[in-house]
Amino acid sequence: MFKKILIANRGEIACRVIKTAKLLGIRTVAVYSDADADARHVKLADEAYRLGPAAPKESYLKGELILDIARRSGAQAIHPGYGFLSENEDFAAACEAAGVVFIGPPASAIAAMGSKSAAKALMEKASVPLVPGYHGDDQSDDLLQREANRIGYPVLIKASAGGGGKGMKIVERAEDFAGQLASAKREALASFSDDKVLIEKYLTKPRHIEIQVFADTQGHAVYLFERDCSVQRRHQKVLEEAPAPGMTEARRREMGEAAVAAAKAIGYVGAGTVEFIFDTLTGAFYFMEMNTRLQVEHPVTEMITGQDLVEWQLRVASKQRLPLLQDELAIRGHAFEARIYAEDPANDFLPAIGHLAHLKTPQETALVRVDSGVVSGDSISPYYDPMIAKLIVWGENREAALARLRTALADYEIVGLTTNLAFLQQLAAHPAFAAAELDTGFIARHRDALIPPPPEPDAEWLALAALAELARIEREREACRSRSNDAESPWHATTGWRLNQDSRNALHFRHGDKEYAVMAYFRRGHYQLDIGDRQIIASGDLSVDGRLYADLDGRRLSVSVVRRPDCLTLVREGTSIALEPFNPLLAGLQAEAETGGLTAPMPGTVVAVLAQVGDTVEIGSPLLILEAMKMEHTIAAPAAGKVEAVYYQPGEQVSAGTVLASVV
Ligand code: ADP
Repeated sequence: MFKKILIANRGEIACRVIKTAKLLGIRTVAVYSDADADARHVKLADEAYRLGPAAPKESYLKGELILDIARRSGAQAIHPGYGFLSENEDFAAACEAAGVVFIGPPASAIAAMGSKSAAKALMEKASVPLVPGYHGDDQSDDLLQREANRIGYPVLIKASAGGGGKGMKIVERAEDFAGQLASAKREALASFSDDKVLIEKYLTKPRHIEIQVFADTQGHAVYLFERDCSVQRRHQKVLEEAPAPGMTEARRREMGEAAVAAAKAIGYVGAGTVEFIFDTLTGAFYFMEMNTRLQVEHPVTEMITGQDLVEWQLRVASKQRLPLLQDELAIRGHAFEARIYAEDPANDFLPAIGHLAHLKTPQETALVRVDSGVVSGDSISPYYDPMIAKLIVWGENREAALARLRTALADYEIVGLTTNLAFLQQLAAHPAFAAAELDTGFIARHRDALIPPPPEPDAEWLALAALAELARIEREREACRSRSNDAESPWHATTGWRLNQDSRNALHFRHGDKEYAVMAYFRRGHYQLDIGDRQIIASGDLSVDGRLYADLDGRRLSVSVVRRPDCLTLVREGTSIALEPFNPLLAGLQAEAETGGLTAPMPGTVVAVLAQVGDTVEIGSPLLILEAMKMEHTIAAPAAGKVEAVYYQPGEQVSAGTVLASVV
């Protein structure tokens, strides 16, 4: 076994690999970009080396530099994780040539599966079933159109070099084919520098079922059963489970053996996944592609087999035999994985970025696992995948596992950026999901139920918000009193008592475009809160770690409170509500004096500078355009005046809060 390995990756997968390495007594070397200098994976590793600036091509994709670090640090092997260099045959070959073990398949196996078309040709020879389609070398528009007509519509055009759903187009009618082909080719060329495509029959109600395979250097190959990854948005997975609901023993063996045959056909070694598309209408399954690396969703397989797949990878890479052979493997219970992303389900799942102002994860046990690369206070940057964490749960059957998933999701609290948490909760609670009515159209079909409008604060939420604010005000008074010389002064009393005055506090909150008022009357030991026409008798304690323990009309409940300058967020049982406390008397004055807007609201790239130094501008005149997370943001003049300076040029990267220009 190795004594020291380098992990050529970041985030949760780097942390995941380090965890197993530690268990096996292997020393670990991390690498990092400037954006990750303080990241969790860097802290967990025994040593860490800087790669370069944040952009992947200047850091995590620098194969030669990574190999050099492996040599310098004495690492005997490199684990590539997923993404980045994990399926780069040149990197695998460079490792082999340098005498550093690449923890993955031989370069030749990566090459064989690198092109979807070539992989299909190989699989055809190995008698693995393929979706009816065309994957030939002749790429003339005419021939592709004829093939599409022959296959019959709808068809799916895929980029041969594809991944991540890029360059994929559904064509419903022959007359639309030429236009969609041109568009698929453009996207493929832009993303993969290769416009080769293949055409497949588009299955209208398929499931995505994949088989985990493993092979060693001594000729053994096994399958570790299947994962169902049918719940997808934008053709990408978001919730996976194992085993696949409704799978029969005979079908499992058939698919497992087909996957092992696929692996054997290319001399595979290590962990791999053979993806199949399963036609729910006919029960037929077809080879889609093989991923020659560890998959994001591997933990569900670990949960149902009781095996550590990273340990298997390390053993196989150090030339040991597979820990178990086929007849020693069995499925126990059921597992789910929910991917928690910084993304906006209501806005077509567009990635989001931001600061994790508050992050609380469910209690980890043998049945609930959280794989994450971030901690509270970290940021999700625009440079990498916006996945925050993976939540994996196990139960003795699907129903028990799903119940555990629901409670664990409700215990997850994230404040500071837009996430898909509420969406995942709706998904886990949906009766059609509980009934395992699975196919890749699930999310689109149930969209309205899965993405409900954000909840409005009712009287109870407002009472909790008021208690949180009152507790904060009281704490500030307390701090003021302890600083004062005269502790006995009635002016510093924290009881809310005031001479000749009914102790009264008016609290105002904004939520979207609505405003709410809570009148709080201090009574001995509690508050009377008037909210609209409701009156609530309330009291509460705010702990130092931001948990409010409240009593509302005799009902006890607790809620997490996250207070940022302009925002009060309350999180309770998986629901979070963000309110903006404001003072109506100051609001008018503030609007007039509003400044700011000259700083970058988030990290991004300056794409256009619209104002010149010396220009006279009006309030609201656009000065610069910043692009972040595929969206453009206009930076406008906060007041009329003269442009004194513009500090950045198009193409330059800026971090959040950077001053971009100045208007005087
Ligand atoms: P990528 O490598 O870009 O992620 P895949 O080939 O793995 O693309 O396909 C991604 C998803 O697209 C699949 O999981 C499935 O939901 C859908 N898909 C792929 N091929 C077909 C097909 N022939 N018919 C219907 N859906 C398909």
